[in-house]
Amino acid sequence: MSKKIRIFIANDASHLGTGYGVYGKEILTRLSNSDEFEVAELACYAHEKDERIKNTQWKIYPNAPLPSNEQETKAYNSAPIHQFGQWRFNTAIAHFKPDIVFDIRDYWMYSYQEVSFYQPYFKWIVMPTVDSAPQKLEWLDTFANMDLIVPYTEWAYNVLKSQCGSSINLFDQIANAGVNPKEFAPINNKKEHQKNTFGKEVSITGAIMRNQKRKLFPDLLQSYRKYLDRLIKEGKKDLYEKSYLYLHTSYPEANGWELADLLLENNIVDKVYFTYHCNNCKHAEPQKFAHGVGRCPNCGKISMMMPNASHPVSTEILNSIYNLFDFYVQYAICEGFGMPQVEAASCGIPIASVEYSAMTEIVKNLDGYAIPVKRLFREMETTANRAYPDNDALVGILWDFFVVASEEERKNRSQKTRELCTEKYTWDNVYNVWVNAFRSVDLSTNLSWDKPNPNPISDNLQVPNNLQPAELIDYIIINILREPYLLNTALIRNMKKKFSIGVTVGPKGVSVVKAPDIIKELEMLINNKKLSEDLRLKAPTLELGWLNV
Ligand SMILES: [Zn+2]
Repeated sequence: MSKKIRIFIANDASHLGTGYGVYGKEILTRLSNSDEFEVAELACYAHEKDERIKNTQWKIYPNAPLPSNEQETKAYNSAPIHQFGQWRFNTAIAHFKPDIVFDIRDYWMYSYQEVSFYQPYFKWIVMPTVDSAPQKLEWLDTFANMDLIVPYTEWAYNVLKSQCGSSINLFDQIANAGVNPKEFAPINNKKEHQKNTFGKEVSITGAIMRNQKRKLFPDLLQSYRKYLDRLIKEGKKDLYEKSYLYLHTSYPEANGWELADLLLENNIVDKVYFTYHCNNCKHAEPQKFAHGVGRCPNCGKISMMMPNASHPVSTEILNSIYNLFDFYVQYAICEGFGMPQVEAASCGIPIASVEYSAMTEIVKNLDGYAIPVKRLFREMETTANRAYPDNDALVGILWDFFVVASEEERKNRSQKTRELCTEKYTWDNVYNVWVNAFRSVDLSTNLSWDKPNPNPISDNLQVPNNLQPAELIDYIIINILREPYLLNTALIRNMKKKFSIGVTVGPKGVSVVKAPDIIKELEMLINNKKLSEDLRLKAPTLELGWLNV
């Protein structure tokens, strides 16, 4: 039997219910069941004593510090990027010796991998979250340094293709994400389920979204109010009485929308349900908006509040919530994918989504209602275009679905939505694309993990006089550090830019940089390469708890 391909991922721990965690679990499970691959995971937010990592059938490198270890915890907390794996990445891969490292997260979570001195030892495959266009110029350098880019969506493929052209190696198959059709499935007695939950017959429009800037809570509430007003105006009193908006979200939330104000402003407090979840007994039920924490009707403790990232509801409860909906709306300025759309569809809930970014193709593939964009705007933080949908068009879509369409038509749509979803968005389909991607890269050009580095740091540390900053940086990287691939990384391009213009902007404002700082920064790189060389050879025998769980 030929040698197994060794695959490494840095990701949210695969036992976590986050989007990244679930994606990782689905791919890693299948990879490790295959004879072709050996898998390891740098598991973010898991520590070495976490019971859940013991049940994993592949190698786990926990990334979180042991809470009882003060020194580790202090080191971990010293930089926000450590939570994404930066502080343990090199040690973990020097220990595992992968042929391929892959990542599926956001740019700032994996960009540190670009400047690992182990880059020549593995193929680097990334699925960047392309949620809008154009992508930041700084990111394009990093994309060009990836051995292979796997496009998340058709939309992402097109953005990357048109912006990067032949400077990147873009895989020609779309990965997508999948949904487990058994976990998210229609229940037989939907009307009964709704009636038991709300105590009467209802007509529910639902949305499942984090309470964050990107999600259009104000516009959704405003549009739903308009829809309700139209029901009254056109004499649809019965439908008005049973119509509700259901928001499964979090509150309060740092940097989130002030939902209380928005509800009042739109005079809609009585027409919106939220999921409330008991932190004690895990009971969940829809309730109208309430400030803060309430009493749990199940266990009696004061611990009912909206779920959030640290206290999510179970998949089972989430499925039960989707099944309360008649219609699902994804209302955001952009999405990298937008999992709730396919989860809703898997439950047979027809969807409406904004015609921008990944939402465009998902709503098309699921034969849902595309909500046209009113206008694009350029967002300062991302320098990308984001979309404001046409709220009046959404009102029209709600009207078409609930008023114009017959019961029969809604039922047919529901069935068709489920069928399209379970055919297109399966984890087996996703897995097949990844396997094809892993098989497509040439591993024969990787440096050998066990042999001496053919390009050690030069013994001659002398630099010529009178070089301009950019020339000095080039000289040191090529002739002393001897890692020419670094020249095209975002790190070095930013360094050159900074020293050429002579100023830099940081959290403390604008500061002037001078030539001696160049040497200091490059000395740090030289030092890192020395440490990396040392670590590469000794990591396999290190006696660290987290390396050997
Ligand atoms: Zn309870």
